[in-house]
Amino acid sequence: MSEIKPSIMDYTQEELKKIIKPAFRVKQIFGWVYHHYVESFKEMKNIPKALQEELEEKFVVNPLKILNKEISSDGTIKYLFALQDGKTVESVWLKMKDEKRDAEGKIVHEAKYSICVSTQVGCKVGCSFCLTAKGGFTRDLTPGEIVAQVVSLKKDNAHAHNRVTNIVYMGMGEPLDNLDNLAKAIEIFKDQDGLAISAKRQTVSTSGLSTKIDKLGQMDLGVHIAISLHAVDDELRTELIPMNKAHNINSIIEAVKRYPIDTRKRVMFEYLVIKDKNDDLGSAKKLVKLLSGIKAKVNLIYFNPYPGTEYKRPSKEDMHRFQEYLTKHGVLCTIRDSKGIDISAACGQLKEKTEMEKQ
Ligand code: SAH
Ligand code: SF4
Repeated sequence: MSEIKPSIMDYTQEELKKIIKPAFRVKQIFGWVYHHYVESFKEMKNIPKALQEELEEKFVVNPLKILNKEISSDGTIKYLFALQDGKTVESVWLKMKDEKRDAEGKIVHEAKYSICVSTQVGCKVGCSFCLTAKGGFTRDLTPGEIVAQVVSLKKDNAHAHNRVTNIVYMGMGEPLDNLDNLAKAIEIFKDQDGLAISAKRQTVSTSGLSTKIDKLGQMDLGVHIAISLHAVDDELRTELIPMNKAHNINSIIEAVKRYPIDTRKRVMFEYLVIKDKNDDLGSAKKLVKLLSGIKAKVNLIYFNPYPGTEYKRPSKEDMHRFQEYLTKHGVLCTIRDSKGIDISAACGQLKEKTEMEKQ
């Protein structure tokens, strides 16, 4: 293994200006990294050779290497990355909207993409339904390792820096368990001289660490939150997400009410539907009650089974019945179409598969 160095993507411009002299070079370096997606300091043509060499000594540009890639027929691409220490994480390139063409075949609207990023190797939360949890927790990702996932996916898909993408922190790990590095990554993404991805286009998904939801709110970064609710009573929720004992449903709902949100927007509640566990109309009824008074949007997710799990995927009929009930009772509700269902769709599944194939 070669020497592990910090990545240039670990730092905001402000931080780099303290390290790199003269400071005006930092904006140029940002351009090479975030607009041209270069992989080495040597490619930074307007940077003097001496500075290139100094940077090369101290930093790597991109700390990730693509180890595996699965392309789905619907345009979803799942990536497995190796970090400098050989650990692995996943990211997903999601096509949200197809491009639109006019009668002559000219593109009038570009396709829209979202990037799903990981924030940790493994996860401490230990949800019983989640494959990522099975391997336990290894370590937090650095800001640069979070940022580099987006840079690498844009580069690999030849997606120009100024084309918009949304970022969802829904890959491996619990983002709020790595709050400082997450906040730094959010800032770096926002930089107008870099990728310029506004906070409005970034959504942090959390299993519901209520005290950290408050902390994120106080940081006033402007990002959206998505709450992985998955259950409407504490008993089942604790079975699914053990730390619900410390951060129960009520504490999450209260924290959401305190979270500073754009008043035009809604807070997303993710509800993983598991057959015969939480797919009944009684649960739907409780969900409506729980969300009353919150500008919420519910996203129903099909449980995606994997070898060794006791949980089952719900039927299409039950999903639609659940959705219909919510809609009828005034709760906005969508069903997450199972993007990449023909690849290893749910988080942690490509990593698992790659490791199995190695054995
Ligand atoms: N830790 C954060 C973000 C990462 S998990 C959180 O829990 O919100 C991202 C999403 O993947 C969560 O909503 C989780 O419920 C979902 N997920 C995990 N395992 C899944 C599976 N087997 N099938 C479908 N969705 C799954
Ligand atoms: Fe962690 Fe989210 Fe998986 Fe739960 S669902 S174990 S919080 S990554």
